[in-house]
Amino acid sequence: MKTIFEKIRDGEIPADVIYRDEQCFAFRDISPQAPVHILIVPNKPIPRVGEAEPGDQALLGHLLLTAAKIASDLGLSENGFRVVINNGPHGGETVPHLHVHLLGGRQLTWPPG
Ligand code: AMP
Repeated sequence: MKTIFEKIRDGEIPADVIYRDEQCFAFRDISPQAPVHILIVPNKPIPRVGEAEPGDQALLGHLLLTAAKIASDLGLSENGFRVVINNGPHGGETVPHLHVHLLGGRQLTWPPG
Protein backbone atom coordinates (compact mmCIF):
# COMPACT_ATOMS: atom_id res chain seq x y z
CA MET A 1 0.00 0.00 0.00
CA LYS A 2 1.24 3.50 -0.81
CA THR A 3 2.21 5.92 1.94
CA ILE A 4 0.42 9.27 2.01
CA PHE A 5 3.60 10.85 0.68
CA GLU A 6 3.72 8.42 -2.26
CA LYS A 7 0.17 9.53 -3.04
CA ILE A 8 1.31 13.17 -2.98
CA ARG A 9 4.30 12.21 -5.16
CA ASP A 10 1.93 10.63 -7.69
CA GLY A 11 -0.60 13.49 -7.60
CA GLU A 12 -3.32 11.36 -6.02
CA ILE A 13 -3.59 13.66 -2.99
CA PRO A 14 -3.39 17.45 -3.36
CA ALA A 15 -0.45 19.25 -1.81
CA ASP A 16 1.37 22.54 -2.29
CA VAL A 17 4.36 21.02 -4.09
CA ILE A 18 7.12 23.62 -4.46
CA TYR A 19 9.99 21.50 -5.81
CA ARG A 20 10.61 18.30 -7.77
CA ASP A 21 13.64 16.60 -9.24
CA GLU A 22 14.54 13.05 -10.24
CA GLN A 23 15.23 12.00 -6.65
CA CYS A 24 12.89 13.94 -4.39
CA PHE A 25 10.04 16.38 -4.07
CA ALA A 26 9.04 19.02 -1.52
CA PHE A 27 5.76 20.48 -0.37
CA ARG A 28 4.33 22.67 2.39
CA ASP A 29 3.41 20.85 5.60
CA ILE A 30 -0.36 20.72 6.11
CA SER A 31 0.10 21.66 9.78
CA PRO A 32 2.92 24.21 9.74
CA GLN A 33 4.94 24.65 12.94
CA ALA A 34 6.67 27.79 11.68
CA PRO A 35 5.98 30.44 9.00
CA VAL A 36 7.99 28.24 6.61
CA HIS A 37 7.52 24.48 7.08
CA ILE A 38 8.48 22.35 4.10
CA LEU A 39 8.84 18.57 3.85
CA ILE A 40 11.54 17.20 1.54
CA VAL A 41 10.73 13.61 0.61
CA PRO A 42 12.64 11.05 -1.47
CA ASN A 43 10.71 9.53 -4.36
CA LYS A 44 11.91 6.20 -3.01
CA PRO A 45 9.80 5.28 0.03
CA ILE A 46 12.52 4.56 2.59
CA PRO A 47 10.47 4.23 5.82
CA ARG A 48 12.84 6.18 8.07
CA VAL A 49 16.48 7.20 8.27
CA GLY A 50 17.19 4.28 10.62
CA GLU A 51 16.31 1.92 7.77
CA ALA A 52 18.34 3.68 5.10
CA GLU A 53 21.10 1.57 3.61
CA PRO A 54 24.64 2.33 2.46
CA GLY A 55 23.33 2.53 -1.11
CA ASP A 56 21.14 5.45 -0.03
CA GLN A 57 24.13 7.60 0.94
CA ALA A 58 23.97 9.89 -2.07
CA LEU A 59 20.20 10.23 -1.77
CA LEU A 60 20.45 11.21 1.91
CA GLY A 61 23.02 13.86 1.04
CA HIS A 62 20.81 15.10 -1.77
CA LEU A 63 17.89 15.57 0.63
CA LEU A 64 20.00 17.83 2.87
CA LEU A 65 21.43 19.81 -0.03
CA THR A 66 17.91 20.23 -1.40
CA ALA A 67 16.67 21.44 1.99
CA ALA A 68 19.48 24.02 2.05
CA LYS A 69 18.69 25.12 -1.52
CA ILE A 70 15.00 25.54 -0.75
CA ALA A 71 15.87 27.44 2.43
CA SER A 72 17.99 29.80 0.35
CA ASP A 73 15.31 30.14 -2.33
CA LEU A 74 12.74 31.01 0.35
CA GLY A 75 14.99 33.68 1.88
CA LEU A 76 15.93 31.83 5.05
CA SER A 77 19.70 31.92 4.67
CA GLU A 78 20.35 35.15 6.54
CA ASN A 79 18.33 34.48 9.67
CA GLY A 80 18.75 30.71 9.65
CA PHE A 81 16.54 27.68 9.67
CA ARG A 82 16.31 24.16 11.08
CA VAL A 83 16.21 20.74 9.44
CA VAL A 84 14.66 17.86 11.39
CA ILE A 85 14.23 14.15 10.76
CA ASN A 86 11.91 12.34 13.18
CA ASN A 87 12.57 8.61 13.52
CA GLY A 88 10.20 6.18 15.22
CA PRO A 89 7.77 6.69 18.12
CA HIS A 90 10.09 8.57 20.48
CA GLY A 91 11.27 10.72 17.60
CA GLY A 92 7.70 11.79 16.87
CA GLU A 93 7.49 10.16 13.45
CA THR A 94 3.91 9.92 12.18
CA VAL A 95 4.39 9.15 8.47
CA PRO A 96 6.54 6.08 7.68
CA HIS A 97 8.16 7.58 4.59
CA LEU A 98 11.45 9.37 5.21
CA HIS A 99 11.14 13.14 5.13
CA VAL A 100 13.24 16.13 6.12
CA HIS A 101 11.41 18.98 7.82
CA LEU A 102 12.65 22.46 6.88
CA LEU A 103 11.49 25.02 9.45
CA GLY A 104 12.12 28.75 9.43
CA GLY A 105 10.73 32.25 9.53
CA ARG A 106 10.73 32.59 13.32
CA GLN A 107 13.11 32.11 16.25
CA LEU A 108 13.06 28.40 17.06
CA THR A 109 13.77 27.20 20.58
CA TRP A 110 15.99 24.44 21.91
CA PRO A 111 15.63 21.80 23.21
CA PRO A 112 12.63 20.63 21.18
CA GLY A 113 9.68 19.27 23.13
P1 AMP B 1 6.53 13.35 11.11
O1 AMP B 1 5.67 13.58 12.33
O2 AMP B 1 7.95 13.73 11.29
O3 AMP B 1 6.33 11.94 10.57
O4 AMP B 1 6.01 14.38 10.03
C1 AMP B 1 4.90 14.14 9.22
C2 AMP B 1 4.42 15.49 8.77
O5 AMP B 1 3.59 15.30 7.66
C3 AMP B 1 3.64 16.27 9.82
O6 AMP B 1 4.28 17.50 10.08
C4 AMP B 1 2.27 16.46 9.16
O7 AMP B 1 1.69 17.71 9.45
C5 AMP B 1 2.61 16.30 7.69
N1 AMP B 1 1.52 15.86 6.84
C6 AMP B 1 0.71 14.79 7.03
N2 AMP B 1 -0.17 14.67 6.02
C7 AMP B 1 0.10 15.68 5.16
C8 AMP B 1 -0.47 16.11 3.93
N3 AMP B 1 -1.50 15.47 3.35
N4 AMP B 1 0.05 17.20 3.32
C9 AMP B 1 1.09 17.87 3.88
N5 AMP B 1 1.66 17.50 5.04
C10 AMP B 1 1.18 16.44 5.68
